[in-house]
Amino acid sequence: MKKILSLLFALIALTSYAQKTLPLPIDRVEPQNWWVGMKHHDVQVLFYKHDANLTEYQPSLNYPGVTLKEVVKVENPHYLFLNLQISESAQAGIIPIQFKLGKKTFTHSYELKNKSTAKNRIQGFDAKDVLYLIMPDRFANGDVKNDSLPGFYEGVHRDKPFGRHGGDIKGISDHLDFIKELGVTTLWLNPILENNQKRESYHGYAITDFYKVDKRFGSNEEYVALIEKCHANGMKMIQDMVINHMGNYNWLMLDLPEKSWVHQFPEFTRSNYRSEAVSDPYHSKSDLDKMTNGWFDKTMPDVNQSNPLFANYLIQNTLWWIEYAGIDGIRMDTYPYPDKDFMARWMQEILNDYPQFNVVGEVLVNSKPMIAYWQQNLINKDGYQSHLPSVIDFPLTNAVNAALNEKGSWDGGLSRLYTNISQDFIYPDPNGNVTFLDNHDMSRYFHNVGRDMNKFKMGLIFLLTTRGIPELYYGTELLMDGNYSIHPTVRMDVPGGWKEDKVNSFTVAGRTKEQNEAYDFMKQLLNWRKNKKVIHEGKLLHFIPEDNIYIYFRSLGNETVMVIMNGNDSEKKLPTARFAEGVQGKTKAKNAMTGEVIQNLSELTLPAMTALVLELE
Ligand code: CA
Repeated sequence: MKKILSLLFALIALTSYAQKTLPLPIDRVEPQNWWVGMKHHDVQVLFYKHDANLTEYQPSLNYPGVTLKEVVKVENPHYLFLNLQISESAQAGIIPIQFKLGKKTFTHSYELKNKSTAKNRIQGFDAKDVLYLIMPDRFANGDVKNDSLPGFYEGVHRDKPFGRHGGDIKGISDHLDFIKELGVTTLWLNPILENNQKRESYHGYAITDFYKVDKRFGSNEEYVALIEKCHANGMKMIQDMVINHMGNYNWLMLDLPEKSWVHQFPEFTRSNYRSEAVSDPYHSKSDLDKMTNGWFDKTMPDVNQSNPLFANYLIQNTLWWIEYAGIDGIRMDTYPYPDKDFMARWMQEILNDYPQFNVVGEVLVNSKPMIAYWQQNLINKDGYQSHLPSVIDFPLTNAVNAALNEKGSWDGGLSRLYTNISQDFIYPDPNGNVTFLDNHDMSRYFHNVGRDMNKFKMGLIFLLTTRGIPELYYGTELLMDGNYSIHPTVRMDVPGGWKEDKVNSFTVAGRTKEQNEAYDFMKQLLNWRKNKKVIHEGKLLHFIPEDNIYIYFRSLGNETVMVIMNGNDSEKKLPTARFAEGVQGKTKAKNAMTGEVIQNLSELTLPAMTALVLELE
C-alpha cells in the first residue's frame, strides 16, 4: 500500500512539473547530444527556430557537473548558442535546459551519453588496408521507396547522366559480400550527407545538412547499421567530409546566423583553384585570398572557418560523426581550400580525442612537394604544421598512367615509377599516403590503359605491392572504362544494382569472361595482400630500371617479396646478379599469383607486359 501511495505522489509531482514547463518549440538543436568522457568537453550548442526571436529567451540549467558557461547571441535572432562546460564528474543523463520567456518556462531535454568503449570501432586505417571508393548513388538501389521523396528537389531520373539514379546505403549493404569477397578492407563512400540541391545533387559534395544522411540514401540509423555490419565483417568505414564549402540550399545558408559565416563578395567570386598559392613562399595576398575565400561554385558558397562560432560548429560536427557512427577514418575534400590554421586545429582536436584515428586529405595537384606540405611532421619553411596524417598521392597516379603507356627510355616508361618513388624523401610518411589508379574525378584506369588487360594487371600489382594505402574505385573489378572528358561516364551505375537491369555483374554468371578474369585476378591479389605484413610495412628497395624493366623488393624480417615489372611488348631474359642486395642469397621463389615454384633465381624469364610477384625462399 505504501508503495502504491508513494508512486501516486510521484506521479502527481511529475504531472504538476509537466504543467509548469512546456517543451521548447524548436526547429534545430545541434549537436543534438554530446558525450561524457570526451576531451572536447566545452560544447557549443546551437538552438534555432526560423520564426522565433530566441534572444528573448533566458536559458539556465541545473545539472551536476555541467555549467552553462556562456550564452551567445548573434545578428540573426533565430539563433542562440549555449556553451556548456561538461566536467569530468558529470554523469550521462538528460540535462533539462530551461528557457524563460516572460512568465512561461520551456524546457529542452539535452542528452549526455557515455562515450563508447566498444572494441572494433574507430580503428583508423593504414597500409594494411585497401580502400574501396563507392559513389553511393551509382552502386546499387536497395530501396526504391527512398528514390523520390517529398521535400527533396531531385528525385530519380536514371536516364539523366547528371541526375540521381537511386543508389543507396541499403544497396551497398546488400552487396557487402561482393565487396568483402573481392578482398578490400575499407569502404570510402563519396559524401552521404544531405544534398538537397536543385541540380546535380547525386555526387554529395554540396551538403545542405551537416548532421543528416541524405534520406534518399537512407537514415542516420541505416548508415550506422552499415558501419556496424562492416565492423562485424572485419571491414572499416571512411567518411568523406566537406567543410570548405556547402550547398547553397544548406539550411544555414538560407538563414545565416551571421553574414560572416560565408565569405561575402560584392559580386560572385570564384576560387582560382590554385592550391600552390597556399604553400608558395612568394604568393600575393590577393591570389591567396581568392584561392581560399572564393566560392567553389555558384551553388557552393565558401565557408568561413575563421568565424569562431562556425569553426566550433564544424569541429564538433566532425567529432559528433566519429563518436555517433563509429567511423574509422575521414577523407577530407579540398584540403588546401579552407583556412589552414583552422584545419590544423580541426585535425588536432580529432587526434586529441581519437589518437588512433586517420584522416586523408585531398590535395589535388601533380606535385610531390605541394602535397608533402600538408602531411604532418614536415618541417615547412613557413612554420606550418598540419597535423594531417595522410595525403592522397596524385603524382603517383599520374606516374603510373604515363608509365604504362610510354615506351621505355631514360625517364619515360617504367622509369616514371622509379623517379616518382625515388623522391619520397619529401614525404614524412610515404607509406601513409593513399595511393590509387583512378577515382571519381578522373578517367577510369581501364580506359587509361587502353583496355589492355596485361597493362591493367601490371598497374594493379604495382599499386598493391609498393608503399602506401591503396584505394580502388568501384567497378575497376568490372572493367568499367569511362572517360572523364565525358564526365558522368566515370560514374556509371553498376549493372545489376537495379532490379530492371538486364545483367547482374555482382554474380559470376552475370559477368563477361573478361570481367571474371579481372575480378578473379584482383580477388586473388587482394586476398594475398591482406595478410602480408611484408607488404604493409616492409622495407622498400628498388633499382634503376634498365630496358624498361623495373624491379623492387619489400622485406620484413626473414620475408622478402620481389616484384618485377616488364614494360616491354616482348619476352625478356633477366639475369638477377645486379639485384643481389634484394635477393639476399635466397635461391628459390614462389610466384604469389600462380603458385609456380622457381628453382633457380639466377636468370628469370619475363613474359611480355607482365609483372611477377615472387616470394623468395
Ligand atoms: Ca533508392
